[in-house]
Amino acid sequence: MNPIKKYFNWLQKDNPTGEVERYPEIDEKGETSLKGVFIVGDLTGIPLLKLAAESGKRVIDYFNGDDVFQKQRENNSDSEINDILIIGAGPAGVASGMEAIKHNYNFKILESAKRFSTIINFPKGKPIIAAPYEYSQESDLKINEGVKESLLDELNEQIKNIDLPIAEGVVAEKIEKKGDHFEIITNDTTFKSLRVVLAIGKSGNARTLDIPGEDLPKVFNRLIDPEEAKDEDVLVVGGGDSALETAIAVAECAKSVALSYRKSSFSRPKEQNEVKLNKLVEEGKIKLLFETNIKEIKESSVVLLDKENKEIELDNSMVFSMIGKELPTDFFKRSNIKMEGELSLTAKLQFALLLLFAGMLYFGKSSADFYESFFGKVDSWGKVFTSICSGEFWYKFVSLPEVLFSALFSDSVRIWNVTKYINATIAYFSFIAFFLLGVYLLYKFIRDFAPEVKLNWQTFKYAYFISIGIFFAVVFFGGRYYGIELLGKSQGFWYTGFYSLTILIFGLRRMKIKPTRYIKLQTSALILIQALPLFILPEFVFPLLGKIGALGGENGFVFTQVFPKESYWRSYGFILAWPLNFSNLYNSNITTFWLVFSIVQTFVIIPYIVYRWGKGAYCGWICSCGALAETLGDEYRTLAPHGPKAKKWENFG
Ligand SMILES: Cc1cc2nc3c(=O)[nH]c(=O)nc-3n(C[C@H](O)[C@H](O)[C@H](O)COP(=O)(O)OP(=O)(O)OC[C@H]3O[C@@H](n4cnc5c(N)ncnc54)[C@H](O)[C@@H]3O)c2cc1C
Repeated sequence: MNPIKKYFNWLQKDNPTGEVERYPEIDEKGETSLKGVFIVGDLTGIPLLKLAAESGKRVIDYFNGDDVFQKQRENNSDSEINDILIIGAGPAGVASGMEAIKHNYNFKILESAKRFSTIINFPKGKPIIAAPYEYSQESDLKINEGVKESLLDELNEQIKNIDLPIAEGVVAEKIEKKGDHFEIITNDTTFKSLRVVLAIGKSGNARTLDIPGEDLPKVFNRLIDPEEAKDEDVLVVGGGDSALETAIAVAECAKSVALSYRKSSFSRPKEQNEVKLNKLVEEGKIKLLFETNIKEIKESSVVLLDKENKEIELDNSMVFSMIGKELPTDFFKRSNIKMEGELSLTAKLQFALLLLFAGMLYFGKSSADFYESFFGKVDSWGKVFTSICSGEFWYKFVSLPEVLFSALFSDSVRIWNVTKYINATIAYFSFIAFFLLGVYLLYKFIRDFAPEVKLNWQTFKYAYFISIGIFFAVVFFGGRYYGIELLGKSQGFWYTGFYSLTILIFGLRRMKIKPTRYIKLQTSALILIQALPLFILPEFVFPLLGKIGALGGENGFVFTQVFPKESYWRSYGFILAWPLNFSNLYNSNITTFWLVFSIVQTFVIIPYIVYRWGKGAYCGWICSCGALAETLGDEYRTLAPHGPKAKKWENFG
């Protein structure tokens, strides 16, 4: 294989290549774009029993404190209109129901199959992992470790004496808003309710393999009882926990089990599953077929393709296709519930606003000399404000297009000075468009959201973004044009300080929202690396040590090689490698220490880290760009385009 192709294949090796699962767009209370309809359980993003039950309880807590809803209840004289309608009787829906009954709500639970049907369909004897372990549950529906059967017994025992109004066999098909209430259209009848809680899990249609033979009766996408696989030649397809658990469950009784996965290793399987799987592989009970793709399913065999595209034919009498499930997206579409990643007109306009801002800043900076000579030089914030308040400024501002166009079309304009006028023109019109669009969007925001603004995370987040934007503009323009240093600190100090603060705030938020062990470890590492070696050490600790002489004398190693002329900023280089950080190499004061260190870091240490722990080890656990993406970007990660085409564009970049 040609080396470039080989390199890109290696780059792609662990990347998710399928389309990302799309969830309904919800705010931090779980409310969808259809106001009054809330999502709980798996559809909020993390598929864990404990968290599903917790989210079910929490939505009722929210209803208890929602004055608008309580007033609607008081005024509701129509006995047909329920307070709450819960759709789905999994752990999330049942936990909601248990809480709703405590608070005397008038509600119903609709369930298309049987209560806890997802758990009923777990493989027989499936061990239950009650993660996150340290999480103490507030919901009355408790989830404990054990096996599928013990969990089901416990769950049924917990609701035995509670009169939960669950209607089984009722499939909700569509939700419609009718005035101040909703109509829920089902296969049976139409229900009415003031609020709707969607607890339907991810049980949509299973993903298809799209290969010949997929329709054969020996192909399943859910294992109900491992005994079904007794004495069969089983192939399990997939690399997620469900695939691993299926292979593990059937390994004891099947004649043979092969597990085919298109990548070279499983990405983040549950620890217990990995241990059990490895043991069964060692015992020869499961054959792992990494980097294989299933090509065809025949009556008594299956055909796989290995990474060299060579065919492997295996005897086979049973296939479990465990490659994931699609969300019940049709239900959301029919109900006009917006999915993540669907851009509204407002979102598109916000993006345009961002582009206009960038255009104004970029072209404004490159034509700063023109503007300075046109409007006159100002060297303090005070003068900026006085100038803006003068009539002369506005006269010049309005006449600027005429000046620019006559300059652009005059005979005196030459190739070497035309860009100045073009840049100034783009900056001018970007500014006007930015201003007009900004005012419109602000008005729209106030009109639509002001009554709903509460002291919550969303409000804090946007207030934080806006304050940081204004603060940076003051620091940047003050430093660049008037030489003003805020509190005597450089621009770099403020940028790094707020960069670290942002990672800290959004990192803590990420750990709170997704309290799994992996997320906690990764986020803590990112926060600490950003805060200590990239801010506190260079800005405070090293200067202090230097001052008290703890870093040696003026002619010592530290001050001649590591931080010449007290350049403590160089210590960023300990974490941020060349070419991410090039200041240590591209400057007139390059030292032997930084030359050798940077070469070893870029060409030995980082390649070793990547080789040993994978591509994400440096970017996802150490680097500050990755830190911002994993923390600030966490809420937005599903918005980016996914799939093979997006990957190609990424490689191109
Ligand atoms: C094989 C497997 C193994 C798992 N193992 C574990 C584990 O060990 N530990 C762990 O913490 N988690 C595990 N999970 C995840 C866990 O099952 C889910 O997190 C949990 O069931 C989510 O609860 P839920 O109430 O949100 O959804 P579900 O339990 O899926 O319940 C949704 C309910 O809604 C019903 N429904 C769907 N659509 C409609 C409709 N239109 N109208 C009416 N009703 C509808 C369904 O029939 C279902 O009963 C596992 C999942 C699978 C598939």
